[in-house]
Amino acid sequence: MATSNPSVKRQLRQAYQQMHRAHGHQQWWPADSPFEICVGAILTQNTAWKNVEHAIANLKTAKALSAKRMYDLPVDELAQLIRPAGYYNMKAARLRNFLSVLMEQHNGSLQRMMADKTETVRARLLSINGIGPETADSMLLYAGGHASFVIDAYTKRIFSRHDWCKETDVYDALQTLCQTALGQRTDAARTDYWQDYHAQLVVVGNRHCRPKNPHCDECPLRSLLPT
Ligand code: SF4
Repeated sequence: MATSNPSVKRQLRQAYQQMHRAHGHQQWWPADSPFEICVGAILTQNTAWKNVEHAIANLKTAKALSAKRMYDLPVDELAQLIRPAGYYNMKAARLRNFLSVLMEQHNGSLQRMMADKTETVRARLLSINGIGPETADSMLLYAGGHASFVIDAYTKRIFSRHDWCKETDVYDALQTLCQTALGQRTDAARTDYWQDYHAQLVVVGNRHCRPKNPHCDECPLRSLLPT
């Protein structure tokens, strides 16, 4: 289980101040609309973001980046457009699963799909084949404005290297730790905090906290390393 140690919670809050001071607010998620965020959240599964950008650019060029247009596309055409994101047949099927729920149960309105209690919308998203916790929470937090902290591989790597969690901790335990430690703000301020917190961890993970040979000397979190 992730820790309930108060000093860990203090360090998590301190970590944000140091990352924010180093990088500034990241204004995440990088997208032009909530629908694009949801598409990006599926496309980014198991691939680097630069590959997602190519796939999104293809969708924009084909004028397919709306729920209705994408829903009307044959799935093999959709797969070809998103090919740069990798696993394109599987991701096209996952997009279709998401679009089917959006179009057939919510009349194509993402606002309607997201308009409920966080746990209700989260369960709705998780019931869609191909949408797991990280994808669902990305959609909730960034497209729906719900307070649902996103945990990813960067979070786990950074946290475990700082002894804020164990490598064996599961998604829900880490999410509970973050939501408890970082839950002191309310409503829009909390959503913005959690949106930017996750974005800051991604920056640290990309720039410094590599799987091998982390660049701790230049990292804004170096003062929080265990002694
Ligand atoms: S690079 Fe080093 S200091 Fe930075 S998050 Fe990773 S382990 Fe911590």
